[in-house]
Amino acid sequence: MKNRHVEPTDPLLSIVIPVHNEAEVIPLLLNRLFLVTHRIGGAVELLFVDDGSRDNSVALLLQARRHHTGIRVLQLSRNFGKEAAVSAGLQHARGRAVILMDADLQDPPELIPEMLGEWQRGADVVLMKRRSRAGESWFKRLTASLFYRLINRISEAPIPVDTGDFRLMSRRTVDALNQLPERNRYLKGMFAWVGMTTVTLEFDRDPRLAGKTKWNYLKLMHLAMEGITSFSTKPLRVALILGLLAATAGGLFGVWEVLKALVIGVSTPGYASIIAITTFLAGVQLLCIGLLGEYIGRIYIETKQRPVFLVAEDSGLENRQAIPQL
Ligand code: UDP
Ligand code: MG
Repeated sequence: MKNRHVEPTDPLLSIVIPVHNEAEVIPLLLNRLFLVTHRIGGAVELLFVDDGSRDNSVALLLQARRHHTGIRVLQLSRNFGKEAAVSAGLQHARGRAVILMDADLQDPPELIPEMLGEWQRGADVVLMKRRSRAGESWFKRLTASLFYRLINRISEAPIPVDTGDFRLMSRRTVDALNQLPERNRYLKGMFAWVGMTTVTLEFDRDPRLAGKTKWNYLKLMHLAMEGITSFSTKPLRVALILGLLAATAGGLFGVWEVLKALVIGVSTPGYASIIAITTFLAGVQLLCIGLLGEYIGRIYIETKQRPVFLVAEDSGLENRQAIPQL
């Protein structure tokens, strides 16, 4: 994909917000956003990406669009997942700077002017790092920290700890991201891979304001697997190492048994140890095959070359008349 040509009519800033069943927070979100965007000297595009919401999120947004300029609603054809929704937003955003934030007000909009300031001083990426994680259980915090430690060991571009998708990116950073063609999109890793001059600001992440989280541990596990497999092939080497270890241990054990038989004769029936060793090795083999399968499955999905998302409707900025009747 080619880089977007910047038009003089382009907004200064796009705020990309993925929305999946967020009707409960949208009125509040809009209020807080307007309070902030009014103070920014330049056009702001509020780009909401509706990720197949089944409540009246879209109706609320389109209604707000009648009274306020600058709201744009991109409706995906179904629920594609947050990573796809964000990708859609990044491809359609027109701003010279783009801010990504969640709809649930866990990322306070009040920080936007500060982020813009850093960008105007020359930063390409303004990363928002959580000082605290209010409203998250110790278990989530523990698993998150373990995951970061693991992934930063194996991936070439370290993923900053305690940062989410809340960030500002310059036009050239967004263009660079839009050029990454993969279908399995692990955004945190992709952000890290792109790099660019980065400034980190700290903030206190609020608990979700209303509604409930769309994440569960199964989804998080999936995301973790995605993160590991899309940024490193090192796990494949685990099979090699395990194989080497098992072969060495088996060989040594064999030599030991032969020597023992020569000196004191065959005495041990060895039934239990055979069962233990074979089941253990069978388990290791299945694990390694499963790991291989994870990579092969991803290759399969990439080769299909399907788009990451489908846009059903783009209520853009220009044609304000074309608002669908509700
Ligand atoms: N989201 C989305 N598609 C999904 C799930 C979530 O666009 O399939 C959006 C959601 O509306 C919110 C953001 O992604 O704006 C973060 O979701 P959530 O707050 O549920 O995640 P958490 O903050 O608990 O990690
Ligand atoms: Mg949230």
